[in-house]
Amino acid sequence: MPSIDAGRMIADLRRLRTFGEYKTGVHRPTYSPEDVAARHWVAERMAEAGLTPVIDGIGNVIGRSPVDGPRLLIGSHSESQNHAGWLDGALGVVYGLEVARAVHSDADGAGLAVDVVSFADEEGHYGAFTGSRSLCGLLDDAEIDGLANRSDGTPLRAALERAGFAGRAREQIEPARYKGFLEAHIEQGDYLERANLRLGIVTSIVAIWQYRIQVEGEQNHAGTTRMAVRKDAGLALVRLAAAIDRRFPEVAGERTVWTTGRITLEPGAPSIIPGRAEMLFQFRDADPDRLVLLKRTLEQLVEEADVAGPCRCRLDVVSRSVPKLMDARFQDALEEAAERHAPAAHMRMPSAAGHDAQILARRMPAGMLFVPSIGGISHHWREDTREEDIVLGCQVMATAAVTILRS
Ligand SMILES: [Zn+2]
Repeated sequence: MPSIDAGRMIADLRRLRTFGEYKTGVHRPTYSPEDVAARHWVAERMAEAGLTPVIDGIGNVIGRSPVDGPRLLIGSHSESQNHAGWLDGALGVVYGLEVARAVHSDADGAGLAVDVVSFADEEGHYGAFTGSRSLCGLLDDAEIDGLANRSDGTPLRAALERAGFAGRAREQIEPARYKGFLEAHIEQGDYLERANLRLGIVTSIVAIWQYRIQVEGEQNHAGTTRMAVRKDAGLALVRLAAAIDRRFPEVAGERTVWTTGRITLEPGAPSIIPGRAEMLFQFRDADPDRLVLLKRTLEQLVEEADVAGPCRCRLDVVSRSVPKLMDARFQDALEEAAERHAPAAHMRMPSAAGHDAQILARRMPAGMLFVPSIGGISHHWREDTREEDIVLGCQVMATAAVTILRS
């Protein structure tokens, strides 16, 4: 069994935090100077670990093992959300590095190959899973041409140029060469902490179904229009939102979540009755049957509101993903390793957040391991995980990696 070097791994994590350090977290958006510097540092660490690193045309950093044997890809993303935590993504990249070093220097690891990856833009500053989709052949040049930074509008092509990645080939994964992909990540919620557990074996990554609800009323004077004849689109929409929140608990699963991300009223002035209202709504679950039930319920509620009047209500699908199952054998290997290093301190659980593993799962078997987030805090500079849990998670990844590679 390969033993990780906890001191070396923690030192790497801390070093990675210095790129774009912000309070106790980091501000390292995709292709920012800090992100680019961090990617070059990751590539250097890969080379020091005996891997052959490449930073490709989309900014993915891939370190390939020279060993010619069963091969596993391990990693995550190294950019961060704006003014966010130091572990989101970075943890999985550094685990990859450490597992590669531990496996390659261990007698048990002879003949086994661990490749390491740091994907670009998982956090979606430009696209959605831009780097992992590129590696999996799910991102074409036309889409890259159309993408721009969500905050400042910089075209992706210009950002790649400035980062020094333009003109480089985009690496493609060869699924046949791999046993699969492993990703470790902070949980980003508080299920593990509340259960007093230290490791989560991910069973599936939830689907996200997004909708736009539009209400058509009649714009009019806020003083002279009698209440009885008004068609207030804003009021109708808020009533509908309240109805959803009342009905959904009756059809929701244990972990179903739903969110009203945005409500806009038009024209949005204090003395005008809103003539139009729009709401962006999403729900998440890992169970396909549950998703359909939630969808039917939403359709029904919108129809009821439409029929009741006096405003017209319409529901449009924005996007619907499918739950991505993690490989059953990978789950077993992770669970077995978790039980070995932390008996009874682990559980199987779905991931409520999206991760690069859901993209890789379209090409090869994939597995994910969670470590607890203190207070369930994430996408915030205060995000953290207890050091003993960080160390434990890395050791479990190394043990599981060898089991998977030997299987
Ligand atoms: Zn992440």
